[in-house]
Amino acid sequence: MQPGRIKLLPDHVANQIAAGEVVQRPASVVKELMENALDAGADDIKLIVKDGGKALIQVVDNGQGMNEVDARMAFERHATSKISSAEDLFQLQTKGFRGEALASIAAVAHVEMKTKTADAELGTYLKIEGSRVVKQEPVATPKGTSIAVKNLFYNIPARRKFLKSAQVEMRHINDEFFRLALAHPGIAFSLIHNGNTVYHLPKSNRLQRIGNLFGNKMPQKLVPIEEATDYIKIYGFTGKPEFAKRKRGEQFFFVNNRFIKSPYLNHAVLSAYEGLIKDKAFPSYFIYFDIDPKHIDVNIHPTKTEIKFDDEQTVYAILKVAIKHSLGQFNLSPSMDFDSRPDLEVPYDYNKKTPVNPQINVDPDFNPFKEDDFGQPAKVSPQRMSKQFEYFETLMHETAQTADQLTNDTPPQPETFIRFESDMNRPSFQLKLKYIVTNRDDQLLMVHQNRAHLTVLYHNLLHQLQQGRMASQQLIFPVELQLNPDEISYLEEHQSKITAMGFDLDFDQAGVLVKGVPVELKIQAITGIFQEILEKLRYENPDKITDIEERLALIIAEQSAVKTGQKLSETEQQKLLNDLFKLPNPRFTPTGKKVFSSIEAKDIDKKFD
Ligand code: ADP
Ligand code: MG
Repeated sequence: MQPGRIKLLPDHVANQIAAGEVVQRPASVVKELMENALDAGADDIKLIVKDGGKALIQVVDNGQGMNEVDARMAFERHATSKISSAEDLFQLQTKGFRGEALASIAAVAHVEMKTKTADAELGTYLKIEGSRVVKQEPVATPKGTSIAVKNLFYNIPARRKFLKSAQVEMRHINDEFFRLALAHPGIAFSLIHNGNTVYHLPKSNRLQRIGNLFGNKMPQKLVPIEEATDYIKIYGFTGKPEFAKRKRGEQFFFVNNRFIKSPYLNHAVLSAYEGLIKDKAFPSYFIYFDIDPKHIDVNIHPTKTEIKFDDEQTVYAILKVAIKHSLGQFNLSPSMDFDSRPDLEVPYDYNKKTPVNPQINVDPDFNPFKEDDFGQPAKVSPQRMSKQFEYFETLMHETAQTADQLTNDTPPQPETFIRFESDMNRPSFQLKLKYIVTNRDDQLLMVHQNRAHLTVLYHNLLHQLQQGRMASQQLIFPVELQLNPDEISYLEEHQSKITAMGFDLDFDQAGVLVKGVPVELKIQAITGIFQEILEKLRYENPDKITDIEERLALIIAEQSAVKTGQKLSETEQQKLLNDLFKLPNPRFTPTGKKVFSSIEAKDIDKKFD
């Protein structure tokens, strides 16, 4: 008989392949080793790192340790003391569950382990290289386990090369360390990098742990959350709105003391803050969920940072109420309505704005755009005015519709009131190199030149972006983006959309190269805009990338608009005015600032009374 072509993979090869999934970078090793230490019941865990983990990752614990047989077994694939049947997967209380971590790590690094159980006289020392045990002997060592992982990916040069700088890898390790330390405040942790003790965290309560990690000012910036139902218990801390930061800050979810990422639940938190914090600001939060493991599925992601609840909408609703409740209890929220079931569909902002009457056109005398800077508009109370503006701005900012579309279902738009016949020449002059002054019928018009140009550019750019025909310019010196594999995969997934915005990206193993950008986008803005794109892709609904187009249009418009102080020729002034008043809504900049103001001749008359 001919020998068949199918062979079983040798174990060390299978382990290397499995390692590809479990061990992506030094931080993954840190996570696996520390989770094992927690599972072993340790209450003091030391993490020792050299060179961002590229040279050494060592975890020393005082847990239950292993006897000689288990020490050896631990490195076999599918060796685990934690489950024995597939059903166990659904009842999981421990961290590890696949029995793959140690085998995978040992396949791609040099590993040394010392371990001893409480009742054993001597412990076991093991040295493993590329899945092969090269040394095993008895050793005097304290109760517990110490595992040192050296020269990660020494036998897979392609992976080794893929590692980022020690600094970047250290940041990832730090992230893992923080997540575990926050999840287990009752356990002492320390982190030592290149011989320096970076953190030494005593056993403490949750709030103290947060203070020890983020500085002792942090606890004052938080309010407690607590909400318990039969289905889930939610507790932890969330940031007082006034401390919300422009950069996504410290935002942590833990489910049964395991860190998770959840764009969906993040949205619940943010929506509870709506109206309390500025648009682009982020609150800090440290939120813990306790739930019967039968309601969750942890095993959907190989690195286990994503989980599924069997009833996500309920969690969303309870979380939102919990946070609103806390903010309200501490007198931070202007309006609270606990009785109404939190509505999943309607954004909070709309609820809040219910007094706004959307039917502007029922009052024919009311013209929100006819006021000027110097007098009250006739027949309209100031209060009502601002309500109307609020409504208008809501339309402007909260719907993705263009102003054109809005005219179909909304009453008079500003265009009705300010209309320059196309390309009509008007006398104009610059005041303080800041305003363009001109007239229209019986009005004196003062146009803010920077805002006017910004608004014109914005609408043109947005139009081009929406049509997917944004002009692109090649960079002489391509810009490299420092991204982790996760982020790269997000960009890759949405590449066509990003290309349509005028970016030319080059993906390679080591990162992403920006070779082309939308015309007029300044090089300094590239990293920032990609951070924003990634934020949207990761934490929000990727379909809402229209937001990104608006941001991109705004950034470019801000960069390219004529500035205050810039002299404009009369032709330039004319062009700007004509372009501006061709817009469906020239009155406001995309961020809602006033573009121009007017004075009626009759009000000028009054000055001469
Ligand atoms: P898993 O954690 O999924 O079981 P691992 O490969 O991470 O798989 O570990 C294999 C086994 O080795 C564990 O089930 C446990 O019995 C043992 N083990 C690993 N690390 C430790 C430790 N620090 N202390 C005690 N036992 C450990
Ligand atoms: Mg494990």
